[in-house]
Amino acid sequence: MVRLAGGEIPADLRPLRMRLQSEPRRQKVAVILKLAGVACISLGLAWTLCYVFFGRYELSVVFIGLTGVGMLALHRSRRSDSSSLLLVAHGVFAVVCAIAVIDAPMAWVPRSAHLFLLPLAAGAAFTFERRERYGALIFPLLCIAAFAAFAMGALDPLAPNVSPPLEVRAWGAKLNTTTSMLLLATLFAINRIDSGKRLRLERELSRAVRNGEIEVYYQPQVRDHDIVSGAEALVRWRHPSGRLLSPDAFIDLAEESNLICEIGLEVLRQACETLSHWSADPRTQALRIAVNISPVQMQDPSLVHSVSTIIREAGIEPSLLEFELTESALATDTATVIERMEALASSGTSWALDDFGTGYSSLATLRTLPVGKLKIDRQFLIEATRQESAQQLLGKIIEISHVMGMCALAEGVETPDQRELLIQLGCDHFQGYLFARPMSRKELDVWLDTSAAPSKPRL
Ligand code: C2E
Ligand code: CA
Ligand code: CA
Repeated sequence: MVRLAGGEIPADLRPLRMRLQSEPRRQKVAVILKLAGVACISLGLAWTLCYVFFGRYELSVVFIGLTGVGMLALHRSRRSDSSSLLLVAHGVFAVVCAIAVIDAPMAWVPRSAHLFLLPLAAGAAFTFERRERYGALIFPLLCIAAFAAFAMGALDPLAPNVSPPLEVRAWGAKLNTTTSMLLLATLFAINRIDSGKRLRLERELSRAVRNGEIEVYYQPQVRDHDIVSGAEALVRWRHPSGRLLSPDAFIDLAEESNLICEIGLEVLRQACETLSHWSADPRTQALRIAVNISPVQMQDPSLVHSVSTIIREAGIEPSLLEFELTESALATDTATVIERMEALASSGTSWALDDFGTGYSSLATLRTLPVGKLKIDRQFLIEATRQESAQQLLGKIIEISHVMGMCALAEGVETPDQRELLIQLGCDHFQGYLFARPMSRKELDVWLDTSAAPSKPRL
């Protein structure tokens, strides 16, 4: 059963209802990996057969390698993360360089395999995000440097003295040139369309706050097994098309364009309105709201002033507000970030460290932060249900948070078994689909009311 925080509320029965990289990006990476997989496998097999046919078995090895990279790309398309993309990009780079060494110019046939380094460079520059410096900048530069080295013939002394017949090579050079240039042109076209869409989205997003399109959804947080202690405020965008967009579709863009500062404050404003609305009812007046603060907002010198003004104007009790910050926010200008956290904490609000365990903050840094809660990333819970060692790690994280005088909240609790495991490990704050999905304020009010009905199933 789930109860409302605040001692005077009787224990009521509540209903039971059951995402880390952004979803559009995952889909884009999955498509790229699948395409790369199919292209590498078909080209690899075709050239392996060709070289075997002409009895150049030793040269077919690199094309078997190309097939291998293709299979790796298909396998990794299920994970669709940046590290898979980088791994496959390096695999393609290594194989293309090996093929380009073999493909040294002979008589009237020029080298052509190295041309594939150009679409590889462009593909990486367009696909990796600006903040992924290695993938978006250093790797493309490496491809261009290798391209220049092959074009100048710098690696020709490494070429073996075996080659398929000149006619086959001449035919291959035409095919390589056409394919690589078509690939390059396609990448530029896709990038142009992509940038157009991004610009349009950015323009629309810049008007979203003014047009009242920013909505806040709330996901209940539960403590001591069954007491609703409050909710996390999660932003949604009611796009002019009528679709309700989840943060995955626009937070990255909002952060890159700094619009997140304006959007974040709007979320805070609405969260304060909800707190003010709840304060009138003794059953809800003790509920707290957690508001996400982006690392970009932490770099804004006017943050403390703007946040304090909103809280003061709303007339709410500051201790009912909690701010959530990810470890990545501490990566730049840690001292200023901590100073701003402290300034806000001194007004009575509290801080939670979000997605804990996914960043690199040291325990020493953690001790210096004015943080009262660690939100353990969902991935730890998923792994803890599969592996004994991951379970022990989860237990230690909960223990560490308690030793440091903080409480631990497990995110993404989806099943009763996960909840039981967490209780056994000493965790007493939970959030996840098991309790409720994020919902509008109206729906939350109904949820809070109806879940008090004794006919609803117990958690
Ligand atoms: P987050 O802060 O880690 O928020 C939790 C996300 O996990 C939410 O996705 C929530 O719907 C989802 N979730 C909750 N329980 C479960 C579960 O049991 N299973 C699964 N699979 N997922 C669960 P949402 O609302 O799409 O938000 C995604 C991210 O967008 C948030 O992750 C946060 O980083 C960011 N975000 C959301 N609202 C804001 C905001 O107002 N400001 C800023 N700066 N970022 C925000
Ligand atoms: Ca959060
Ligand atoms: Ca989180």
